[in-house]
Amino acid sequence: MTLSEFVGRPHPDGGATVAHAATHYRWTPGSNTLGRCPQCGAELELSERHVLVTLSREIGGDDRHHLCDEACVAAWLGGE
Ligand SMILES: [Zn+2]
Repeated sequence: MTLSEFVGRPHPDGGATVAHAATHYRWTPGSNTLGRCPQCGAELELSERHVLVTLSREIGGDDRHHLCDEACVAAWLGGE
């Protein structure tokens, strides 16, 4: 399963669909921002390779989430 196949899938929390999913790297150069994978709870160094998923909500706009990899994205969306 490639990341682009997740686009358009609903998030199980309801009200949101995946607008974008891509491998991300160093999206805020020079900062040491940390994120936390909502699936497994791992702390992510956002300057290192991870997966950025944007959820689109009808109310509240877009929501960015950082996950470890494809496997965490699949599990997070309740997939395979
Ligand atoms: Zn994870």
